[in-house]
Amino acid sequence: MACEQWREILSAELDGEASRSERVAAEEHLAGCAGCRAWFDAAAAVTRRARTRVAPPVPDLVDAVLAAVPPVRARSPWRERVGLGLRGLLGLLGAVQLVLGLTQIGRDAVIGHGPGAGQHLWHESAAWNVAVGAGFLVVALRRSAPTGLLPMLSAFVATLVLLSVNDLIIGQVAVARLVSHGFLLAGWAVMVLLARPGWRPGGTPPQRTRSSGSRWSLRLEEQPEPAPLRLVPPTPYSAQARHRRAA
Ligand SMILES: [Zn+2]
Repeated sequence: MACEQWREILSAELDGEASRSERVAAEEHLAGCAGCRAWFDAAAAVTRRARTRVAPPVPDLVDAVLAAVPPVRARSPWRERVGLGLRGLLGLLGAVQLVLGLTQIGRDAVIGHGPGAGQHLWHESAAWNVAVGAGFLVVALRRSAPTGLLPMLSAFVATLVLLSVNDLIIGQVAVARLVSHGFLLAGWAVMVLLARPGWRPGGTPPQRTRSSGSRWSLRLEEQPEPAPLRLVPPTPYSAQARHRRAA
């Protein structure tokens, strides 16, 4: 075996990575090779120096770092209670909305939406009521931030309000039918409140000092998650390269 290969084994020995048989064989080679003996002594000295070098003094930054950390603001009990109340209300509205949709499926009469609305349109609106009720219930029970549901629900509510006003003006809708939309409107309003950072479960309360735009701003892109740190196992190669450079 060439001296270069013996030195790789000796380098591994300095890193504590050589096997017992490798160590014994390397010792035998060292006994008969002055070049490798000199190399090994130099490499061992470098390793010792690197491991025992006095760490240079660094300024104590603990106080400065701790002072720069933004204060952790606990959620106030009343905020917690109001958030819980909003979720309870949303759950109730979801249940009502769900029952409305399910009873609508049971009935096949077209009430209040005027002549010309076919059986299928009636079923379609029932499906929407069931879906909205289920959505309200899930948000209330899972305590998740309802931001993902808001764009579609807001468009649905806005369109429904505009069409309802139109139908009311031309007398195409019974007031009783419009009242049933009130549950949807109330649920939507609760969802808008719950989507704000201060009311989210686990969300941080609004920081008064922050001035980077409105909290209502429309975010069109998801913020990319920072890549998690990972441990890279030390490779024998890098240790050997270090020793070779040092030698
Ligand atoms: Zn040698």
